[in-house]
Amino acid sequence: MKNLKCDVCHKDITTAIKQRDYFHMAHRDICEACHDQMERSIKPVVRTKQPFSYEWYDRLVRDSIEKAIVKGRWEAR
Ligand SMILES: [Zn+2]
Repeated sequence: MKNLKCDVCHKDITTAIKQRDYFHMAHRDICEACHDQMERSIKPVVRTKQPFSYEWYDRLVRDSIEKAIVKGRWEAR
């Protein structure tokens, strides 16, 4: 099995079952805990977006992940 590390918190992702214990998003490997935190941090932003667009959402996810990688943690936007 591939030895995966979360790109944000750098923890080993031991049971690499796609879309269950880790998430491959925006060309990054994200562990479940970080994915949860990301959803929490972008949810208030997503809620206020009218009209909603998937292109915009993809960009928001990508930006949030890249920002978290640089800072080493998630933060509310
Ligand atoms: Zn992580």
